[in-house]
Amino acid sequence: MYTYYIGIGSNLGDREGYLAFAVSELTNTDGVRSVSHSSWMETPPWGPVEQGPFLNGILKVPATLEPLAMLDTILHIERLAGRQREIHWGPRTLDLDIVWIEDEQGHPVRVKETTLVVPHPYFWERRFVLEPLQEVYPTFTYEGVSISSRIEELRLLEA
Ligand code: ATP
Ligand code: CA
Ligand code: CA
Repeated sequence: MYTYYIGIGSNLGDREGYLAFAVSELTNTDGVRSVSHSSWMETPPWGPVEQGPFLNGILKVPATLEPLAMLDTILHIERLAGRQREIHWGPRTLDLDIVWIEDEQGHPVRVKETTLVVPHPYFWERRFVLEPLQEVYPTFTYEGVSISSRIEELRLLEA
């Protein structure tokens, strides 16, 4: 059994509908035990492309699926939601990223495959990931730094 923390976002069409769709699809996936999630947070678009605001959150998903099988699952759900891959970091109906994985003992699981890198390479830089992560995992620490102090640091950097 693993615990997956999956970043979810949408900034095209019925954003709330796409997030709810992903929760329901994941809940009905073999090997997934349950899906709980943070509140959905409106966040300004990130990166170089001009686009509408995102609705973001974090899903907490205990599952027996191996990491690459979980990646296949979330990419499949993105396709079901009509995700088109055109512009890198462009607008999308649904984006699901595996941010963090723990094993049954609560130890971090690291993955370095060509198609999957966990922890997600940018998660520690992104307030729109860390703020909802803090809701579902308030005691989270990374490399000795608590999630609350990292969020505060990012707020100050952005101010
Ligand atoms: P970013 O990763 O910076 O948030 P993005 O979400 O827009 O950018 P995508 O186009 O959605 O990037 O993903 C491209 C590929 O990233 C996926 O097809 C997948 O193989 C790969 N990938 C690598 N690591 C991960 C991960 N931890 N979670 C999801 N996809 C990943
Ligand atoms: Ca992403
Ligand atoms: Ca992605």
